[in-house]
Amino acid sequence: GGVITPQIFRHMMGRAGDEIIAHRDWLSELDGVIGDGDHGVTMEIGWKAVQAALDNAPEDETIEGSCKRMAKAFLDAVGASSGPLYATAFLRAGAAVGDRLNLDAAALAAWLAAALQGVRDRGRAEPGDKTMIDAWVPAVQAAQKAAANGTEHDVINAARNGAETGMKATADLESRRGRSAKLGARSVGHIDPGAASTWVTLRAMASALEE
Ligand code: ADP
Ligand code: MG
Ligand code: MG
Repeated sequence: GGVITPQIFRHMMGRAGDEIIAHRDWLSELDGVIGDGDHGVTMEIGWKAVQAALDNAPEDETIEGSCKRMAKAFLDAVGASSGPLYATAFLRAGAAVGDRLNLDAAALAAWLAAALQGVRDRGRAEPGDKTMIDAWVPAVQAAQKAAANGTEHDVINAARNGAETGMKATADLESRRGRSAKLGARSVGHIDPGAASTWVTLRAMASALEE
């Protein structure tokens, strides 16, 4: 069961790319404050590669197959630290639902949880280090709670809301990972760009599923 077919999944990912591209300048501005100012551009490059790869996907490709395709595209296109992080996230997320044709609420929560675990295993950041993890962790917690008796819509809406809360809270954190760690206490007061792009991505997935 589940309402998220492979076609709808690819539509959700295409929308995530559209929204990342629409928010490119904002994401780079955030990264300009505590990093090297390229996060919007690196995400745009990665997501454009994902969109191009998905345009070439066979109509009957499974969600796991599309996730492998996305991982390869992202890794090949992006040299920044987020390249291997997102590639691992997509690979793990796809593998977690490899036995499914369509995603139901539980499978969508499992997809999100595996994406987070992929980022954690690859990047070794801990919650509170002021990275994208700090948006992903509350997103996945909220998604898993919603999956207990909610629909796919409830799960992705909860993930979006959790990511928004987590993103905003990164402003209070001092960076201990990535380029912004060099700023130490001066990173406090500013939102982490990777947490911001996580929110943009999950919000786009939620809005695409509404249609
Ligand atoms: P770069 O730092 O190479 O310029 P980006 O600007 O594209 O790469 O991405 C920066 C974002 O990557 C940060 O805002 C942070 O959220 C995320 N990030 C950096 N290092 C890690 C890590 N080890 N684990 C998880 N996320 C990380
Ligand atoms: Mg950067
Ligand atoms: Mg960079």
